[in-house]
Amino acid sequence: MRLLAEEYPQAKTALQYTNPFQLLVAVILSAQTTDRQVNRVTEKLFSRVQGPADILELGLSALEEQIKSLGLFRQKSRQIMETSRILLEKYGGQVQGTREELESLPGVGRKSAGIILSTVFHVPALAVDTHVARVSRRLGLTEGNNPYVVEEDLCLLLPKDLWSLTHHRLIAHGRKVCRAQKPLCDNCVLSPHCPKCFL
Ligand code: SF4
Repeated sequence: MRLLAEEYPQAKTALQYTNPFQLLVAVILSAQTTDRQVNRVTEKLFSRVQGPADILELGLSALEEQIKSLGLFRQKSRQIMETSRILLEKYGGQVQGTREELESLPGVGRKSAGIILSTVFHVPALAVDTHVARVSRRLGLTEGNNPYVVEEDLCLLLPKDLWSLTHHRLIAHGRKVCRAQKPLCDNCVLSPHCPKCFL
């Protein structure tokens, strides 16, 4: 973790947003899509959408049209519409800072809730995506194939104040160096300590 901290001191989400609602929408849009693709779409969408009322005003068809370059755009559009409706009806339009309330929203699972909790509300959470799981397994930090098991193993190993940063740092390392195909082990600061080093 010290070596990762030196490599990625400022690691944070690559998703672009200016308020909690926009991050929530971006996280829903990011399912099975790269952050770069999401940012391309939200650059235009967020110039018009600041909160859930703006989504309802936009309407389902227009939302689908704006995000149609992303995979699963119909499903994601419905989830964002429904999430916006719930936020307005139950929470005065505000994104809530508990896992239970976040996970009750359509399109928000454990990973998404963890990202929002840690990024917006500074609640310790270690969200596990494909990069976090792969790099952790290669490093021998977990043997889990299930994200819940990976999260549990990492949280047992790490102090709470490192959970969020570790999420971002493992993602950064997974994207840049410990790639799924052809990891760059000869350029990896962790190689002396990595049981799966391919060198
Ligand atoms: S040594 Fe290779 S497998 Fe291990 S963390 Fe680095 S890039 Fe990944």
